[in-house]
Amino acid sequence: MKRIYITLCLALMGVMAMRGETIASSPDGRIVVDFEVKEGRPMYSVLYDGQVAIAPSALGVQTNMGDYTIDLTWNPSEVRKEEFSGTYTLPSIKVGAEHAYQYNRSALMLSQKERPVMEIEFMVSNSDVAFRYTILPRRDTRCCVVTSEASSFCISPDARAFLAPQSYPMGGFARTTPSYETKYSLGEPVGRNGWGNGYTFPCLFEVPHADEAKNLWILISETGTDGTYVGCRLLGERGGKYRIGFPMEGEFNGWGSTSAQMALPGKTPWRTITIGHTPANAIETTVPWDLVEQKYPASRDYSADYGKGMWSWIIGMDYSCNFNEQKRYIDFTAAMGYRSLLIDALWDVQIGRERIAQLSQYARSKGVGLYLWYNSNGAWNDAPQSPRGIMNDPRKRREEMKWMQEIGVLGIKVDFFGGDKQPMMQYYEDILTDANDFGIMCIFHGCTLPRGWERMYPNYVSSEAVPASENLHFSQGFCNEEARDCGAMYPFTRNAVGAMDFGGSALNKFYNANNRQGSRRVTSDIYALATAVLFQSPVQHFALAPNNLTDAPVYAIDFMKSVPTRWDEVRFIDGYPGKYIIMARRSGNTWYIAGVNAMEQPLQKTITLPMLPGKSTVSLYINGEKKSVNLSKKQTLKVEIPTNGGVVVIGE
Ligand code: CA
Repeated sequence: MKRIYITLCLALMGVMAMRGETIASSPDGRIVVDFEVKEGRPMYSVLYDGQVAIAPSALGVQTNMGDYTIDLTWNPSEVRKEEFSGTYTLPSIKVGAEHAYQYNRSALMLSQKERPVMEIEFMVSNSDVAFRYTILPRRDTRCCVVTSEASSFCISPDARAFLAPQSYPMGGFARTTPSYETKYSLGEPVGRNGWGNGYTFPCLFEVPHADEAKNLWILISETGTDGTYVGCRLLGERGGKYRIGFPMEGEFNGWGSTSAQMALPGKTPWRTITIGHTPANAIETTVPWDLVEQKYPASRDYSADYGKGMWSWIIGMDYSCNFNEQKRYIDFTAAMGYRSLLIDALWDVQIGRERIAQLSQYARSKGVGLYLWYNSNGAWNDAPQSPRGIMNDPRKRREEMKWMQEIGVLGIKVDFFGGDKQPMMQYYEDILTDANDFGIMCIFHGCTLPRGWERMYPNYVSSEAVPASENLHFSQGFCNEEARDCGAMYPFTRNAVGAMDFGGSALNKFYNANNRQGSRRVTSDIYALATAVLFQSPVQHFALAPNNLTDAPVYAIDFMKSVPTRWDEVRFIDGYPGKYIIMARRSGNTWYIAGVNAMEQPLQKTITLPMLPGKSTVSLYINGEKKSVNLSKKQTLKVEIPTNGGVVVIGE
């Protein structure tokens, strides 16, 4: 039965994909978007080099003002087409140098009973398709509630999917889920729906082809979400159909609507589809930031404070959040030449505000700035850690931020948010907006995926929104699969669409302050160095410990002192999600090429590095040592990456 169904789906895809009007194509012509209104229902499809990437899929929204998924008409002669191009510089993203974007924009109006009700806008670059809706006012109706979206993505039924299931609401530690902390699957078949609740963005698909060079890699996500909408997910249906899902009713302790209210005319966030024959376009895409706008001016130059930092909690846990240990970590942070120290939960009771001010002063005398941890609650989950009840109170929040500014604190890390309903999306925006008034930078944990936020909010730094390093401390099982589930997975998925605060690169053998017991790190030291390059965030709080100054290899400490956190360019070189990755990042004139291997056998590769001159001398970190080697005349280098190991090449 299933086979018949899949065959039918394939037949439909083959026949149907070519119908409709071509309404938009990429500047290089390789991506084509077709559109049609079929029996009143708007549909689109996407071709890449003539192959079907997205088979005919539904569009439209349902609102309390009208159902804009049915009974619609359009006039193909009235499509507005224009070029959308320009440049911008955003030092907090993977392409921090000024970069140019170029999209072809097509906008079409949909009418119901001959009255225009909604515009659909498509943007197409050489690697991305994005679309969004603008819902129009109707006579005196100037607001509406969007109750659901029909927006769908029909993927080939024989695709392999790399997906993170949406968790159950109000589950996990202190009822804090969903918090985007589930593992990505390793090429699961399409047609599933995760744990029953769909999947969190971004969602990666590989569509195989008899000629492997024609495989398609498709990354689906969304961008531009703020307090005017809800955070969405992808619901899986049979045969490769995925559609936009709104938050689950149970999120936010069951309180508040799952729908989005908006003033009219009102725009939805962008749905984004990044396509290529390899994962390169997904890893290199800038679509999350190209299509959004800065929402307020920066009150100061935050990029001056980007850089490396330390946090004691990942190795020392709650106990380490005391005055003497934090002072020791300030000395360690300064010894490493790092910019910041993150003081995690319970500092309010275990250190106290007065002594935090003393620590901040001491830190500043050494060129170190502090980040302070806060519980976002509030009333959306049971997370007990303090300080609580400050960030959710606008008056207390601003008083606290004023105090932080007075004592020279650099930023905050706010944890344990309450899902993706609209009030919670507004809450992120409120914290960011207030923090900017006091020059405070923001990191979020236990939180939603950032959706274009680096550009929208200039003091936004990074988010967790991934199973991060804390799991390495808590679970040997997680340590055992670290290379597969983290190093060889996140560059293709989570980190491709936004800054990721993983908090890793540990050089301890064990996740414990005595470095003798607890979860044992299975990955090599060079794996740790490689992930400092593979994982991107403009502020990185690494899981190093003061003892590493004497017990870790000198080459590793020297590397961790000098590795940048600001990158100008990124290039995918080779890899497969969950197996291995080799990619390159440029900082100024220097290229860092980093790779990790999660497979059971050592990975032997001759890598081509077109960004470096032939025969040039490079630094190679491999098999527990650093050495100088020369590239071949043809800019190649032979490497063998051990299981759970890594490689780094530095060259100019
Ligand atoms: Ca977490």
